[in-house]
Amino acid sequence: MTRRAPCPVIAIVGAGFSGTMVATHLLREARSPLRVVLIERAETAGAGIAYREQSDRHLLNVRAEGMSAFPDQPGHFLRWLAEYRGDDALVNPAAFMPRRLYGQYLRDVLAAAADQAQRDVRLEIVQDEVTGFAAIPPRTTLRLASGTTIDADRVVLAIGNPGPADPPVDDRQFYSSPMYQSHAWSMQGLISLRRDDAVLLVGSGLTTLDWIASLAERGHRGAIHVVSRRGLLPRVHQAAARHVLGFDPGTAAPRVRLLMRLIRAEIAQVVAAGGDWRSVMDALRPHGQTLWQRLPRPEQLRFLRHARTWWDIHRHRAAPRNLETVQRLIDKGQLQVLAARPVAFVERGDAVDVHLRPRGRTEVVVRSVQRVVNCTGPDSNYRRLNHPLLNTLREQGLASVDDIGLGLQTDAGGRLQQQDGSASPTLFTLGPPRKGALWETTAVPEIRQQAQALARDLLVTLDSQRSEAGESRGVVSGLGLTLA
Ligand SMILES: Cc1cc2nc3c(=O)[nH]c(=O)nc-3n(C[C@H](O)[C@H](O)[C@H](O)COP(=O)(O)OP(=O)(O)OC[C@H]3O[C@@H](n4cnc5c(N)ncnc54)[C@H](O)[C@@H]3O)c2cc1C
Repeated sequence: MTRRAPCPVIAIVGAGFSGTMVATHLLREARSPLRVVLIERAETAGAGIAYREQSDRHLLNVRAEGMSAFPDQPGHFLRWLAEYRGDDALVNPAAFMPRRLYGQYLRDVLAAAADQAQRDVRLEIVQDEVTGFAAIPPRTTLRLASGTTIDADRVVLAIGNPGPADPPVDDRQFYSSPMYQSHAWSMQGLISLRRDDAVLLVGSGLTTLDWIASLAERGHRGAIHVVSRRGLLPRVHQAAARHVLGFDPGTAAPRVRLLMRLIRAEIAQVVAAGGDWRSVMDALRPHGQTLWQRLPRPEQLRFLRHARTWWDIHRHRAAPRNLETVQRLIDKGQLQVLAARPVAFVERGDAVDVHLRPRGRTEVVVRSVQRVVNCTGPDSNYRRLNHPLLNTLREQGLASVDDIGLGLQTDAGGRLQQQDGSASPTLFTLGPPRKGALWETTAVPEIRQQAQALARDLLVTLDSQRSEAGESRGVVSGLGLTLA
């Protein structure tokens, strides 16, 4: 009698950039039989929150030349673009391409990997939501919203960022009003918006710029109010010369105040020599994880309290076109940006009075609007998150929140740290959930590295498990058992 060893299964929860790229590398590199099951609750796999179908006014915030999906093929996205458009000349490496197009690129990358995979290496895409886990070592059972289950040898949580938290106010009743949109990443709310409605956008980051771009595209005529704690918008991208840092981020004193002083001094020097501050920020980028990891916990908290906004607006810069739109609307008097926070929402018929406390002041100002959109970005406090999937992991002791509460605790390879402190043999994550450990882990340049490394690690550990199983089965193979 000959019995085939069961084909190992790697289940990937979430098919945004992270999940799609882990799947792609597994398909490209697996040399033994493997089922890669990619589970995505949204309609389309390969896009995630950032790169799904949306207006062409929603642009990548990184130039095309920096957006290859593969760490070792920097020109890959540019080559795809040239092929897609049928003409090299139409590709400008310095352009900020529509994010929708990048989603198409990722779907093509995944499809090509599936086509070219070895015959016994298969991709299955499942449109469903993973709602729970049951770990019965060595396998994990995933429960899906449809009621089905999937047994997997390894599970990769590629679930991206959590949604935003509602602004903290005493009376939260307004949050169930149709005038409130809690999740700015969906543009659904635009459909029911009348052209003359006044809109208040809470938050002033890149998602807010997307909303402003969409409002402008629709010819919106109503007032647009943008409020955030400091009222600062992302800075604009601009070409900047390469710069070599004058200090070593690996040995500089791990104190936020000292580091900020060093960075400011370096910027002052560059600017005095006719350069641009962006050169310094770009030179810091590859050291972001080192800088963060060297900070003791209290210093990380200090950074989050005092320096984060400054860092974010300089580091997460916007495509020039988006800021031109903002400036045009400000000049027209249609758009106002205010450093303030909402303290109350009072509904009055088809409008809501938003009570705002301007920064550093005690009196309240009121803006009457027909729509409030929460553009504050992901809730960065995992401790208060009520996330069904993470709850089931935590209840079973399979995952723990990192010390600072920004994500999940992992080891250097992305294995989840269980509540007893050990590294999970079967559960992994990458990208945004590793923010507490790495800080710089939410954008393509970092995630593409992680996806490749994680896929390779998964294949190596599965192979060694297979050969161990092979050795023990070898004893029985005299009785007729063989491995596939
Ligand atoms: C609006 C926006 C624009 C951005 N623009 C850029 C850019 O231009 N350049 C750049 O480098 N970075 C950009 N980023 C950063 C972005 O976070 C990363 O580039 C990357 O897309 C993150 O991918 P991800 O797969 O980790 O997360 P996501 O894109 O959030 O994907 C996670 C996926 O998991 C699915 N999922 C979650 N839970 C479950 C579940 N239980 N069951 C099934 N499916 C589930 C979700 O539906 C989602 O599709 C942007 C981010 C946003 C939000």
